[in-house]
Amino acid sequence: MSKTFYITTPIYYVNSHPHIGHAYTTIATDVFTRYRRLFGEEAYFLTGTDEHGQKIAESAAQAGIDPQEFVNRMAGEFREMWPPLHIAHDQFIRTTDPEHKSRVQAVLQKIHNQGEIYLKEYEGLYCVGCERFLDESELTPEGDCPDHQKPPQPHKERNYFFRMSAYQEWLVQLLEGNPELVYPGRYRNELLRFLEAPLQDLCISRPKSRLSWGIKLPFDRDFVTYVWFDALLNYPNALGWPDAPRYQKFWPHCHHIIGKDILKTHGIYWPCMLKSAGIPMFKKLVVHGHWVIGGSKMSKSLGNVVSPLDMKARLGVDALRYFLLREMSFGEDANFTEALALARYNGDLANNLGNLISRSITLSRRNFDGQVPPCGELTELETNLRREFTEGVGRVQELVLVFQPHRALELVTQLSSAVNKYIDEHKPWKLAKEPEQHELLGTVLYTALDSTRILVGLLQPVMPEKMAEAQRLFGMSEQPLAFEQLVPGALESGTPLPEPAPLFPKLQMPPTEPAPKPVKKQQPKPAPKQQADAVTSGNGIGMETFQQIRLKVGIVRKCRRVEKSDKLLVSQIDLGEGRLRSIVSGVAEFYTPEQMVGKRVVVVANLKPVKLRGELSEGMLLALDDGTTITVLEAAKTTAPGTPIR
Ligand SMILES: [Zn+2]
Repeated sequence: MSKTFYITTPIYYVNSHPHIGHAYTTIATDVFTRYRRLFGEEAYFLTGTDEHGQKIAESAAQAGIDPQEFVNRMAGEFREMWPPLHIAHDQFIRTTDPEHKSRVQAVLQKIHNQGEIYLKEYEGLYCVGCERFLDESELTPEGDCPDHQKPPQPHKERNYFFRMSAYQEWLVQLLEGNPELVYPGRYRNELLRFLEAPLQDLCISRPKSRLSWGIKLPFDRDFVTYVWFDALLNYPNALGWPDAPRYQKFWPHCHHIIGKDILKTHGIYWPCMLKSAGIPMFKKLVVHGHWVIGGSKMSKSLGNVVSPLDMKARLGVDALRYFLLREMSFGEDANFTEALALARYNGDLANNLGNLISRSITLSRRNFDGQVPPCGELTELETNLRREFTEGVGRVQELVLVFQPHRALELVTQLSSAVNKYIDEHKPWKLAKEPEQHELLGTVLYTALDSTRILVGLLQPVMPEKMAEAQRLFGMSEQPLAFEQLVPGALESGTPLPEPAPLFPKLQMPPTEPAPKPVKKQQPKPAPKQQADAVTSGNGIGMETFQQIRLKVGIVRKCRRVEKSDKLLVSQIDLGEGRLRSIVSGVAEFYTPEQMVGKRVVVVANLKPVKLRGELSEGMLLALDDGTTITVLEAAKTTAPGTPIR
């Protein structure tokens, strides 16, 4: 019988538009789900939206519409966000669903019947942003709410309270006795530290006079439920608590994925609520850190949001998923910048994996009639690589199962580098020239293809569409490979290999980045290599367009560094025009000014002049860029300045 796995994202509060924080949690959850399925488990993935509460009521009023209409619109925005990010959830729950509402009321009634909910008059400091009373100890030294940077206001009202204080001892014992319950462990320690102070009872109602947009208390119609009490119950409710077969099947394997900002609600309130309601404890609370831009947390309250869809256009969906999972050490905060994303893309995907896929297929096609070559006798190099892969696949599985996707992906990249190194050691392009080495050539290329196929299988949960494409390049069906197939030697010799198209074309750094590689930076430019590949099979540019670009040979007469830039040089170039042109290029990491002087370079001569770092640039130099080194393109020593290139 296969193992069972239930995984949830938080339900997102529809007071704000979806941002990269939501996208990360949901993508990570999707990736964990797909990995569990790869490992043969039966997985169920829940996400949804949290739709009640004061802030929603206020936003709806501001928009001049009914709260239900407002939440319908916003829930739609979240729901539509996920499929284009290759997120395939099994269920989308909304807290305005009638089944959810009646189940929340059933839990409230049960706890009330047990005498664990009571009415009392309360006076305290209330933060509208948090929608709750704050304890003095939670405030900043200035007396502000730490999340909203505003002082909470004194407020007095009668409300219902959940006797959470009664569960303090029990909760401490639960956390101490179950080190696995909260991951990473430091969040368990944080909860235990919080529990060193007396646990307060939880206010679970709002008077309807103040807020009507919520689930009515079943035992007092003048009140609605506090939004967290409503929201947390979505997890068992979605499965059909208390007795649906799906609930019975999946609830015992429940894993909650959350961001660390909602640790307290999930690590303190939620276990107490479950205990009181007689619902078995979740299996694991898995906590991730925040994406940081310029030192502050990305959140709706601070307004510094980056739309994940913007990055999607730049990187492609699958590469964005890869970046998010690879870059964040799960549990810790991580930096999010476009430059980091592009560097990761070019390094891991374009130069390492993408290059491996394309060269192993191209060499095989060229030397073995367009087919997967036969595998001859294994030498020590193949045996070692196979062992590395067998161990590596097991290790990737272990790392995913303990919620360390960043380490799993790091290992996949290491394995990819190992195959590239293996190819470099055997030099199949040399073997191809020696007919007596044909069998060895087959073995080398077979081993390269077969190993790469395993990497594709391991990356399928992270990049489902790209890896389906990769499988097509290996002559296989697009169906995700089974885990049992991720063993060395399972690739079939003789399979026809279609002509490879680049899976991850190398990307340029954006012009807005402070330290670009500006050799190819300025606006109109002759198509660089990947674009050239793309246009030969697509529409291409017309000859007229190409002829508009004027290329000429120029001699560098003088050259110096651009102040405060370690990437840019500015050259004075003789194009035979009776004056020197000033041209800025991003080659300072590869050439000293002295080395540039005297070179006969290729210049795009009719570019509109621009200023780069305060320096005038009247054209651009062409250069070769292999991903690691930039080499300035040079004409023969005898060429006169101003000679046109056609
Ligand atoms: Zn607040």
